[in-house]
Amino acid sequence: MSAFCHSHRWSAAVSSESLPILPAAAPAGDKRPPALLDAAVSEWLAWLATVGEKKFRAKQIRRWMIERRIQSFDQMTDLSTSLRQQLAEHFSFSSFETVGHQIASDRTEKLLLRLHDGELVECVLMRDPGRRTVCISTQVGCAMGCVFCASGLLGVKRDLTAAEIFEQVLVLHRLMEDDEKITNVVVMGIGEPLANYKNLMQALDVLCSEDGFGLGARRITVSTVGLPKQIREFARCGRQFNLAVSLHAPNDELRTEIVPVNKGTGLKEILAAADEYFEVTGRRVSYEYVLLAGVNDQPEHAEELARLIRGRNCHVNLIPMNGVSELVMTAPGEPMTHQFCEILKGWGIPTTVRKRKGADIDAACGQLRLNRSDTDAAKKRD
Ligand code: SAH
Repeated sequence: MSAFCHSHRWSAAVSSESLPILPAAAPAGDKRPPALLDAAVSEWLAWLATVGEKKFRAKQIRRWMIERRIQSFDQMTDLSTSLRQQLAEHFSFSSFETVGHQIASDRTEKLLLRLHDGELVECVLMRDPGRRTVCISTQVGCAMGCVFCASGLLGVKRDLTAAEIFEQVLVLHRLMEDDEKITNVVVMGIGEPLANYKNLMQALDVLCSEDGFGLGARRITVSTVGLPKQIREFARCGRQFNLAVSLHAPNDELRTEIVPVNKGTGLKEILAAADEYFEVTGRRVSYEYVLLAGVNDQPEHAEELARLIRGRNCHVNLIPMNGVSELVMTAPGEPMTHQFCEILKGWGIPTTVRKRKGADIDAACGQLRLNRSDTDAAKKRD
């Protein structure tokens, strides 16, 4: 259960230079000072020298940023007032501002974040007994065009930087009580994580690093639409992350209809890459399957899916579609979902139906951003 431990992580004698480095790249048109966690450690050290501070302050500051639930430089009480002021002049405390915060009756919390260039992304904290899972985004919008998904309705604007990805975990961490700890991270928010591979990997490195957040790779799941080349690269990254592949259909014809990016790849290639992921990492791959009433939820689809993936050490996660107000598609009723699940189980395939979290807030992936973008667009039209 020691996903990360507040007490010991910084007690080891780690030199500031060995802290993980995030890229300094800020989005174009950004007028604010750079976010502190977007600056590389070498940049911090150079800056500290210019203001006459010792090197060890870098570690002290980073510890405040990562481990403690503070909201501003001013709360870094073991630094001099002057250093705190200088930090505030030269760096932004965060890569984004929180512009929306919803809390569901099951204590799922969802944040809408405005990035420095005005773009919006979402992240979510989900609470289960003994488990705190955060769901983070990797792109502004998405280019994959899945027909049931709110995230892709406006296309993709840009990739998130590594700090913008990583800081979502920090901002959700700050929402938690002192006795709560993040146990799992799912990269299932807005965007296609493997289409922003380099920044994703840098962010995950900091998340896993003992000098960063100290989370075990096995507690992190990356969900992909199924980009075979990147899946194979991910298999060789040297860490045991969990891979979830969004299948959603048991044959190429149907899959291309609902996941258009399938046209250029095809199920055979995706499954071969996922098999390689399992062979290289030993981690059982999950297949996600969004159930869309009347589209891919029939017993014959379940049979075909079972025949497609049988013989693999895998797991299927059925996701009854979350409603998206702009779309006409809906989830099947409980009996159809149950029947689909039982057919797969009958073939010996471990299958679960994803529990709905945050049902009374804008729960579908990208829905909050979409609603806000609609409102902003409407305001501009008026
Ligand atoms: N691009 C990645 C991450 C997307 S979000 C991927 O395709 O896997 C994580 C999962 O939520 C994906 O399986 C995605 O297809 C699914 N999803 C998207 N919109 C949904 C909706 N309206 N209802 C239920 N699941 C949805």
